[in-house]
Amino acid sequence: MPISELHSTGDQVDVVIVGCGPTGATLALLLARFGVSALILEREEAIYPLPRAVHFDDQIMRVFQSLGVAGPIARAARYNPGMRFVDPSGHLLLDWPRPAGVGENGWYTSYRFHQPDLESILREQIDVTQAANLLTNVEVTGVEQSDSQVNVIYKNRQTGAFASVNASYVVGCDGARSTVRKHINEAVDDLGFNEHWLVVDVLLHQEKPELGDFTIQHCGRDRPATYVRCPADRRRWEISLKPEDNADTIARDDSIWKLLEQWLLPHEATIERSAVYEFKSLVSRQWRDRRLFIAGDAAHLTPPFMGQGMCAGIRDVSNLSWKIAACCNSSGFSNDTHETLLDSYQSERVPNVKEYIETAIRLGALINSCDTQESLKRAFGGGEDTVRMKSIVPGLGVGLAAGNETYRGDWFPQPCLASGQRLDERVGLKAVLLITASLLADYRQQYSSGDDIGLEIIIADDEPEIVALLARYEVAAVLVRPDRYLLGSACKGGEVKLLIDAAKKFTSL
Ligand SMILES: Cc1cc2nc3c(=O)[nH]c(=O)nc-3n(C[C@H](O)[C@H](O)[C@H](O)COP(=O)(O)OP(=O)(O)OC[C@H]3O[C@@H](n4cnc5c(N)ncnc54)[C@H](O)[C@@H]3O)c2cc1C
Repeated sequence: MPISELHSTGDQVDVVIVGCGPTGATLALLLARFGVSALILEREEAIYPLPRAVHFDDQIMRVFQSLGVAGPIARAARYNPGMRFVDPSGHLLLDWPRPAGVGENGWYTSYRFHQPDLESILREQIDVTQAANLLTNVEVTGVEQSDSQVNVIYKNRQTGAFASVNASYVVGCDGARSTVRKHINEAVDDLGFNEHWLVVDVLLHQEKPELGDFTIQHCGRDRPATYVRCPADRRRWEISLKPEDNADTIARDDSIWKLLEQWLLPHEATIERSAVYEFKSLVSRQWRDRRLFIAGDAAHLTPPFMGQGMCAGIRDVSNLSWKIAACCNSSGFSNDTHETLLDSYQSERVPNVKEYIETAIRLGALINSCDTQESLKRAFGGGEDTVRMKSIVPGLGVGLAAGNETYRGDWFPQPCLASGQRLDERVGLKAVLLITASLLADYRQQYSSGDDIGLEIIIADDEPEIVALLARYEVAAVLVRPDRYLLGSACKGGEVKLLIDAAKKFTSL
């Protein structure tokens, strides 16, 4: 879209998103699904070309499902059977297998993918989504907020001309060197990991099955390294650098082939791309200032050993999008409701993302350790020779809550309904109350005899998978939020009333 068509000073959108990486693109599509207009301002013309994310999980696939892009993304990705940590003699230290079948979220629990493929699919979806617009080649240079809006100033990188646009909210999805973060608060907490690694993607000339389908973490070596089986003929190596390494010379083809020679020879593959990264572990101290927010790498950075950096950014915007949408769509919100909703973004997200980062740091310690058995015991407990690791599913930090709060903030799976549909297909991005017929009858008797409760409801009794989930939690109702975490649960009519009142208050979508 030409700048001249879209913006002179004073144009207005609901939300300006700074940066169109995976976080910003996903946010624009989520907001559009909630009927909220979003304009993404992106500095670069093209998608970022260097090697980055190769893994996402089933929670993230549910977000893609809700955006209508799970099909193309699944076709471009492949199932990941898991990750193995081995010592220099090849002995298996830590095994993190992933089930071969579809899991509780309705998808494989772990996928391998190529980040530019994913970003292209998201941008194609933006192209056909009326409420979401992307303007490339423009750099945001400043933001100024008043009580009722934010004025965003940006520069056309081709012409050098400046323009501005007004928005109700601005979200900085502008990566590790975020401009928006500078307008909120630059302070970060450093969780202590800081290393330089060389990352190389190669394209195989022919099959090389001996490399295997598992991700292999080569621990305790002179140079610890990660091997990743990516889709199609692409393979990834990440190799730890030493302080004396020169970042420029080590990224030259001849140096790379020397580092790869134990696995692969030059006639077997072409080096597609490589980069030296500083792996960091940072969490910003402040994610919101009134109408400004940060999300994704702008808010946190993790070493990539869990494959969760991009996933965390997508969880951020899954959390934030419905809250901003509720504020845009409900002019009747009291100031308190507005503040409670928007403040809950950071308080809910920080503990969740920290748990991933801290686990990634523990994995990094194992990968780096010379005494791998000792490090294994220290980091993952037990006296065993090989530890079997399970995926972590962190809940949300303190935030929104209602009814019985025991399971508040827990992630809720995606049951298959009797109709054959999955839960999210049926309800889209709405909040939904899953409840037994008898508890609903109790609630109606005490509080509401009318039919319309004003909320999406599924009666559990005819839905065996929902019955089983309620039995697991030992409750008779749960309220699932638009981002698929629980607002709370209920066993009594009074708790149902609290759930319904809170859901209606917080999700006027
Ligand atoms: C080697 C490596 C491996 C990784 N592996 C994984 C993995 O397996 N799984 C995983 O989940 N994550 C992984 N990650 C992390 C993942 O790649 C990042 O977390 C993710 O790309 C961050 O997305 P983002 O949209 O927040 O930021 P970015 O992708 O950095 O996008 C930010 C965008 O903002 C734009 N921008 C910046 N400033 C401005 C401005 N002033 N005006 C306009 N636009 C601006 C930039 O041009 C950029 O396009 C890995 C990272 C690395 C380096």
